[in-house]
Amino acid sequence: MSQKSKTELENNKLHKRLRHAVGDAINDFNMIEHGDKIMVCLSGGKDSYALLDILRHLQASAPVEFELLAVNLDQKQPGFPEHVLPDYLHGIGVPYLIVEEDTYSVVKRVIPEGKTTCSLCSRLRRGVLYRVAKENGCSKIALGHHREDILETLFLNMFYGGKLKAMPPKLVSDNGEHIVIRPLAYCKEKDLARYAELKQFPIIPCNLCGSQPNLQRQIIKDLLADWDRRFPGRIESMFAALQNVVPSHLADTQLFDFAGLQRGQALPYGGDTAFDRETPPDVFSEKRKVINILGNKPKP
Ligand code: SF4
Repeated sequence: MSQKSKTELENNKLHKRLRHAVGDAINDFNMIEHGDKIMVCLSGGKDSYALLDILRHLQASAPVEFELLAVNLDQKQPGFPEHVLPDYLHGIGVPYLIVEEDTYSVVKRVIPEGKTTCSLCSRLRRGVLYRVAKENGCSKIALGHHREDILETLFLNMFYGGKLKAMPPKLVSDNGEHIVIRPLAYCKEKDLARYAELKQFPIIPCNLCGSQPNLQRQIIKDLLADWDRRFPGRIESMFAALQNVVPSHLADTQLFDFAGLQRGQALPYGGDTAFDRETPPDVFSEKRKVINILGNKPKP
């Protein structure tokens, strides 16, 4: 096979892999229902472009009808290339809104020089996006977080927050008014990076605000990337763990009634076994039981 055909084959596989991963996440969490109007938050980064692109493809073939509205919040950061997103969105013919809100000045005014600005900035951004979703009658808000974002959040919460808590594929918004969905929850970051390259998305750099990257998140990101290189399958196993929680084998008295435990009590996950198998299961080889709403075939 020529190099060109090999590359084409790899690219096709990548497209299919991403579309299946998104379809599976949508199906597993019932993210999209008939008649939904989904606001797709577009930052100009690789993940949100991929999210919009894959949702558009699924929309064209899905038996379920839903609308998409791409929304970008122009936060008035210096040097923000205002024309890039409208040109792109106009070019692909997707309904879109560019919302201008100068959160940059607010953040600069309120946060002392040298302090990290991301938490206030994202709180302000969330507030604006919720308002826009409401004004435009959107039933769901789609965000471009992927598998590694979810795991990074899990570790951040464990290391610094004392909580076993990640970033859910589907939840209600902070203000309780919207359903937030993360259709890329099963997608690998490196697949999304490759997809963005192939599709030549016009990426807008995310450092225009001049903020330092969140150091703790970066350390965890590097840790996960290192594990992925040295121990193939570890990331997959960690993500699978989020879908296989065993409350009786943790230590949260709110989650499991340790106080009321009786001798002979049948437990869904057995008794005091510390580690289930020496060789972790191939978590992704299990057959999918259902054909999802977007028409994905069960995995072989
Ligand atoms: S990097 Fe800048 S734009 Fe992004 S959340 Fe932080 S302060 Fe806001």
